[in-house]
Amino acid sequence: MPKQVVKKSSKKSSKKKYVFFFGGGKADARADMKAIVGGKGANLAEMTLIGLPVPPGFTLSTEVCQIYYERGKKYPSEVKEQVQQCIRKLERITGKRFGDPSKPLLVSVRSGAAASMPGMMDTVLNLGLNSRTVEGMVKLTGNERFTWDAYRRFLQMFGDVVMEVPHHEFEEALDGVKKHAGAKVDTDLSADDLKEVVRIYKEIYFKYTGSQFPENPEEQLWYSINAVFGSWNNPRAIKYRQLYDIKGLLGTAVNVQTMVFGNMGEDSGTGVAFTRNPSNGKNEFYGEYLMNAQGEDVVAGIRTPNPISQLKKVNSDSYNHLLKIRSILEKHYKDMQDLEFTIEKGTLYILQTRAGKRTATAAVKMAVDMVKERLIKKEEAIRRVSPISLDQLLHPMFDEAEEKKATILSSEGLAASPGAATGQVVFSAEDAEARAAMGEKVILCRLETSPEDIGGMAVAQGILTARGGQTSHAAVVARGMGKCCVAGAGDVAIDHKNKRMMAAGKTIQEGDWISLNGSKGILYEGCIPTVEPKMTGPFEVLMKWADSIRKLGIRTNADTPRDAQIAVKLGAEGIGLCRTEHMFFEADRILSFRKLILVAPQVRALRSALEDARTEAEEAKIRHELKVPLTQYEKALESLLPHQRSDFEGIFMALKGLPCTIRTLDPPLHEFLPHDEDGQRELAEALNVSEEKVKNTVESLKEFNPMLGHRGCRLGLTYPEVTEMQVRAIMEAACHVRKRGVKVQPEIMIPLVGTARELEISREQVERVIQKVFQENKMKKSQIPYKIGTMIEVPRAAVTADEVALHADFFSFGTNDLTQMGCGFSRDDAGRFLGEYVRMGIYEYDPFQVLDQAGVGKLVEMACRLGRQVQPKIKLGICGEHGGDPMSIKFCHRIGLTYVSCSPYRVPIARLAAAQAVFQA
Ligand code: PEP
Ligand code: MG
Repeated sequence: MPKQVVKKSSKKSSKKKYVFFFGGGKADARADMKAIVGGKGANLAEMTLIGLPVPPGFTLSTEVCQIYYERGKKYPSEVKEQVQQCIRKLERITGKRFGDPSKPLLVSVRSGAAASMPGMMDTVLNLGLNSRTVEGMVKLTGNERFTWDAYRRFLQMFGDVVMEVPHHEFEEALDGVKKHAGAKVDTDLSADDLKEVVRIYKEIYFKYTGSQFPENPEEQLWYSINAVFGSWNNPRAIKYRQLYDIKGLLGTAVNVQTMVFGNMGEDSGTGVAFTRNPSNGKNEFYGEYLMNAQGEDVVAGIRTPNPISQLKKVNSDSYNHLLKIRSILEKHYKDMQDLEFTIEKGTLYILQTRAGKRTATAAVKMAVDMVKERLIKKEEAIRRVSPISLDQLLHPMFDEAEEKKATILSSEGLAASPGAATGQVVFSAEDAEARAAMGEKVILCRLETSPEDIGGMAVAQGILTARGGQTSHAAVVARGMGKCCVAGAGDVAIDHKNKRMMAAGKTIQEGDWISLNGSKGILYEGCIPTVEPKMTGPFEVLMKWADSIRKLGIRTNADTPRDAQIAVKLGAEGIGLCRTEHMFFEADRILSFRKLILVAPQVRALRSALEDARTEAEEAKIRHELKVPLTQYEKALESLLPHQRSDFEGIFMALKGLPCTIRTLDPPLHEFLPHDEDGQRELAEALNVSEEKVKNTVESLKEFNPMLGHRGCRLGLTYPEVTEMQVRAIMEAACHVRKRGVKVQPEIMIPLVGTARELEISREQVERVIQKVFQENKMKKSQIPYKIGTMIEVPRAAVTADEVALHADFFSFGTNDLTQMGCGFSRDDAGRFLGEYVRMGIYEYDPFQVLDQAGVGKLVEMACRLGRQVQPKIKLGICGEHGGDPMSIKFCHRIGLTYVSCSPYRVPIARLAAAQAVFQA
């Protein structure tokens, strides 16, 4: 009947495929089905299809895992049926049967998600053994000891992984038998000893589970499949996914595969190999093997494996076969592979292949070599190297073996600035400078740092803070300096006063040695030796390829000629942000600046009073009062000018004509004054004023949240002379350098603008000074093509960007402040809860590290659109920390920014990320 036919066919077509077979040269899955069958399953299928010797098996898909959780640990009805079919197929291909004592089929059950999560989930081996098949196997292999060993391993794994019998119970039982038999290592146990181990294991199993060990292999199989799916959500696996940012997967797949044994005698063995050297990238076969062993023996480190080259002598057939497979795999996957193999009685099997993990050095070398070998295209080479990993190539690192041995004092800090540092503890910038002057290596440890600490930070090997996040002062400055920094190590109690800190229950005094890993956020006790990385040829080649592809310009955030030079060497095409505040902290000028700050509020107040004076007499009185402080104010400015000018000259010279965006003073003035009593007393003495006066000024400038206070253009508008001095210094420096025949492109940037009027007034002020300096130096704009622009870091400026753009030649997005104000988080303390916010999924990433595209990014996009409406050619850049973050760089590319600007050591990362953004857009 037609009706029935329709019904039947629709039922057939709606049957979903959940289990994928591989074996006998055929496979249901393909390499590109990783999302469904996991990485391991996809590669087992692919290897089977290209004719490699893979033991047959089948894969339960990741969708099964998802449904298993959704339905309260139950499977769709088709799954059991499809598994049954696969078992029968497996039996046909291998000629063995589940539970058949004469020819038992034994399988392994392993996890395998789309992303590699080595060792995080569960595995069961030798499944199918029971009290009857074990006897059959003895006959079949003629090896009683091997078989009983396999059986006891199965019992242990099944008990531990599937039934959660405490692992130590099995270990203790094994140790007991070993002791009794006088055996030193497991391999000293005889078949009879192992039979005894099996007997005790079964008792332990019964004691903990209340039931006998299952004899039926299919029952064993389903228990094990449940356990592997269950391990997807074990705390270890969850943590791993968090750490490695593995998101959006359905779950793990489960691979059931015929067992092969590397421990069946001296003609058997097992090993792991890489098709190229994963450490240095050389095109050489690399790996280790052990004869008469199972994979777990290699991992457990009971015996030391031999280098793969020795296999040539021991078993040349297998070795040559492996070499052939190495070449097939590389040609097929066009990437370095990490493979696991087993030799069973002289026959080679490949159990797994995957793209091998590699160091950054190796990744770069392999990618470049493979282009030369015509295995891949340049675009693929660029795609293949992780931009962030390039950090490893640019900073000194710890000797890995030594780092492993070191004692960890804290691992709660943020990996704020990469690299490794080792030195003696100091708790103040002054102590850092004093010790460094005597040739000592120091690590500056502070609760948090402020611009005042800059000198100490500059001479320190590394910086540790107990407070603060990724955009805290310490983190930003350290990254700029290319210096290692661990920030916000909340479990370290720093006691500046007594010059000591407590960490991991230990007291560390000034002068004690510690080590920091700024790439991992770890503090160690003692001194760990470091190794210097080298910039190698392939690295340069890859960078040039990236440059030929990227559309975004790459600038740097640099405040000194040295940093500018480093950045240019690393490929920067100009400075996107020169923060001028650090210049005021140099020893030869801080006193003048402090003098200025002490009189500036008074000058401002008197000027304001002058505006309000109602009678001439009143006006004359105020003018009289103003005379002395104004002279002091002007004198201080005058003495600062030549210093600033020479700072800018140095930077312009280092840039050799590249554009340079210089920001006028941004931080609130109180940051330049000492906050502790001793410091205030010393300043009062140095300036010959009363201690009271210093204290009062500090008090009057105090702000609750300095990041939103009297700073940025607000300073320049209320103390115009400071901006004018800075602009004069910049333009005089530009004139001097130009006269020496070096091109200059200064770009003066006004920070923290929120309204168009702020920029309008600031611009007039800046233009006035520029014209004056031009006149004095007989220069004109055609000789020094300057620009005046603003940072967009206040949300109001972003939403009124069409008005602001009328006065700006460029916008530079200060996304640190824009994030702070856009999200309503204080940069200084949001680190205390942002980690939890990310874990709770409120933000996908820390918005100070990865641009919050949905929120802050929208402000940026809006500002670009509005800005271009009134000024189609406006230059648009970003200079917040996000300018060095690959994901944020991709966003910047997509919205068509002109350039990104990042700290010098991030420049290569940004170059590569910008090239990758072209493919990903
Ligand atoms: C910013 O706010 O993004 C910025 C670059 O300025 P700073 O970090 O100095 O406030
Ligand atoms: Mg800012």
